[in-house]
Amino acid sequence: MSDTQTAPLPIKAVIAPVTPLQQNCTIVWCVKTKKAAVIDPGGEVQRLLHAIDDQGLTLEKIWITHGHLDHAGAASALKAATGVPIEGPHKDDQFWIDQIEASGQRYGMPDARGFTPDRWLDDGDVVTLGETEFEVYHTPGHTPGHIVFFHRQAMFAQVGDVLFQGSIGRTDFPRGDYRQLIESITGKLWPLGDQVRFVPGHGPMSTFGAERRINPFVSDEALEIDRELRG
Ligand SMILES: [Zn+2]
Ligand SMILES: [Zn+2]
Repeated sequence: MSDTQTAPLPIKAVIAPVTPLQQNCTIVWCVKTKKAAVIDPGGEVQRLLHAIDDQGLTLEKIWITHGHLDHAGAASALKAATGVPIEGPHKDDQFWIDQIEASGQRYGMPDARGFTPDRWLDDGDVVTLGETEFEVYHTPGHTPGHIVFFHRQAMFAQVGDVLFQGSIGRTDFPRGDYRQLIESITGKLWPLGDQVRFVPGHGPMSTFGAERRINPFVSDEALEIDRELRG
């Protein structure tokens, strides 16, 4: 036995970008039980079901980071096809979920539907998947009810449209708030650790540590300059 030997991680994940917006839908599963969750099924239900099947998984949960069309538009259809519960987002995103069907018509996703989650999530909640669990953090700013899912042992997070490689989420939507988003990133995500690998809502994966070094919006250096300029 070597001191450096580490236990195999209890989860695995594959990213399946969906919708014309190439949203990073993720299939994550408990390795031991092969129970899976789909995080942010924005569309393309049949493709997701095939991917779950290909990996020999059983779908157990649908998890939603926030109520935007490209993240949540197919949650209702996936639940109808499988009977599994929808968990998340935070209840402050109800008004976004209520607009999914109308915005789906406008953006060429006529099958998108709203829903009522089986469980709203809040800061500090824990969600189970097979024999493992994820922590939930409430991270408003892009939308008021945005949450992120975090697996501590794997140091893995799905952060939706809060943070991207080299950028941050838009805050020009109704009830968006730039200062609140920066506070969510520095106050909720950074304390989880520089080594955390995250799947953003769009684009390539990164780590919190890399963003603290190079992200022009939230690097330690950029925030220091911002603080000085604001006195
Ligand atoms: Zn969004
Ligand atoms: Zn998005």
